[in-house]
Amino acid sequence: MKFSLFNITNFRVDGGAMFGVIPKALWSRQAPSDENNTVVLSLRSLVIETDGRIILVDAGWGDKQDEKFFRHAYLHDGDGLVSGLAQCGYSPEDVTDVIITHMHADHCGGCFVNTPGGGTTAVFPNASYHMSREQWEWASDSNLREEDAFLKENIRPFSDSGRLNLIEENGELCPGVMLKLFYGHTPGLMLPVIRYGNRRFIYAGDLMPTTAHIPLLWNMAYDLLPLVTIAEKQEILEEALHDNDLLIFQHDPQTECCGLSETPKGIRAGVRGRLSDFLQA
Ligand SMILES: [Zn+2]
Repeated sequence: MKFSLFNITNFRVDGGAMFGVIPKALWSRQAPSDENNTVVLSLRSLVIETDGRIILVDAGWGDKQDEKFFRHAYLHDGDGLVSGLAQCGYSPEDVTDVIITHMHADHCGGCFVNTPGGGTTAVFPNASYHMSREQWEWASDSNLREEDAFLKENIRPFSDSGRLNLIEENGELCPGVMLKLFYGHTPGLMLPVIRYGNRRFIYAGDLMPTTAHIPLLWNMAYDLLPLVTIAEKQEILEEALHDNDLLIFQHDPQTECCGLSETPKGIRAGVRGRLSDFLQA
């Protein structure tokens, strides 16, 4: 198995929304904000090469919305989707599988892009798309609370593709790649857990978007069911601490990967580094 990480882009989001009930006096020490109260997030995708497959995890925003939409996201820096993938050694045609953690616009939008003729085309023409059935049905029906995140132009191309594989429950996608479902952020958030050598790497996605979201009460205001998020984090953190697992962060602009350590205040980030540091170790 080979696995690598790249950052599609950085973007900005309201710091208060990112940290829910945590006072700014506390979160701003972890994530400095600008004059508009926004903080920087990264948007990292994972690529796993195993068992004859090239598996991409999440695909970023894409390009199907207008300039006004992206003006609020302040996209900057990063490697891009196709060029980031190329830096890892793969072309879009190489990708056999895309794991979509959930249908929020910053995670799924990049799978399909606009064509000059007005339609959309698949960026990964040979890929199947894996997402949880619960998330797919939830996003397809949408709701007032998430209507800014579940965009029709992102959902339609997946249903038209005929390549959707809807996952019903926790299980193995292929040897070494487990898929695990969560319900606090949005129903059926699906995060991969990868076994590499004798360690497991948990792609923390929107369950714990940054290292600052490891403490149990530090959660995004976007979460639909905060008490469920807390319980899900507690369970996975205790298990990860016990088994010496590592976390991979999609949205932490500083930290790609960390171990965990037990402190008097609870489980916190331990040793931090780039994914590649941990793969050599
Ligand atoms: Zn999300």
